[in-house]
Amino acid sequence: MARSYVREARRRGLGRRRERIVPIVERLAAEHADAEIALRFRSPLELLVSVMLSAQTTDTNVNRVTERLFLKYRRPEDYLQVPQEELERDIYATGFFRQKAKAIRGTMYVLLERFDGVVPRTLAELVTLPGVARKTANVVAAELGHAQGIVVDTHVRRLSQRLGLTRADDPVKIERDLQRVVPRPDWARFPHLLIWHGRRVCDARSPECEVCVLEDLCPSSRLATPELRSSDASGRARAARSSTRR
Ligand code: SF4
Repeated sequence: MARSYVREARRRGLGRRRERIVPIVERLAAEHADAEIALRFRSPLELLVSVMLSAQTTDTNVNRVTERLFLKYRRPEDYLQVPQEELERDIYATGFFRQKAKAIRGTMYVLLERFDGVVPRTLAELVTLPGVARKTANVVAAELGHAQGIVVDTHVRRLSQRLGLTRADDPVKIERDLQRVVPRPDWARFPHLLIWHGRRVCDARSPECEVCVLEDLCPSSRLATPELRSSDASGRARAARSSTRR
């Protein structure tokens, strides 16, 4: 169980999750206006393959591989017309190439058999594809404009906990907690905002609370002092609720 910053938020008088979430989203959106998926793709099929390849590797590495891969494999049929070993060689640099090649070929087969070769939009359909778990399905659905959940990766998990938006450690429970507070129109961009804030400011080992736009809304800020907690807590809470921007 993660340390409960939900309780710490109450102790510091920062306001409830539902009161803090709108200013959190708005400030992050202003701070990271360029936050978007780092994978490069030109079609739903390329998106699906890119996300499947991104397991256990970096987006930069995937982009390097797919730059050539997508010139050779343009339709679901293309992935099935080569021997599996050839596809394995073509995606070797992304790691776990045997499992990934098998999952991609299985997915292409199901796409052709059940979906006329078209990537489905619903989570329920996407998770029926071989090797497509909830996180992958959430990313694909959100990028196609049909967000039905909230992507939880390592950054989203860490920041959601630090910001006191969840007490959970399990990604499924974290997603459920976030769905309760994050406004639905923000479900697709919220993970990107947390991911980019995690990379640029709220590092796992050394968060830069001094320059963080969420500092006065964050129960795990390193800047909070005992004096602030006791004397200024109510004023900070009022400021947090009445202000959506610094
Ligand atoms: S105040 Fe510090 S811990 Fe909180 S989100 Fe910002 S950088 Fe992270």
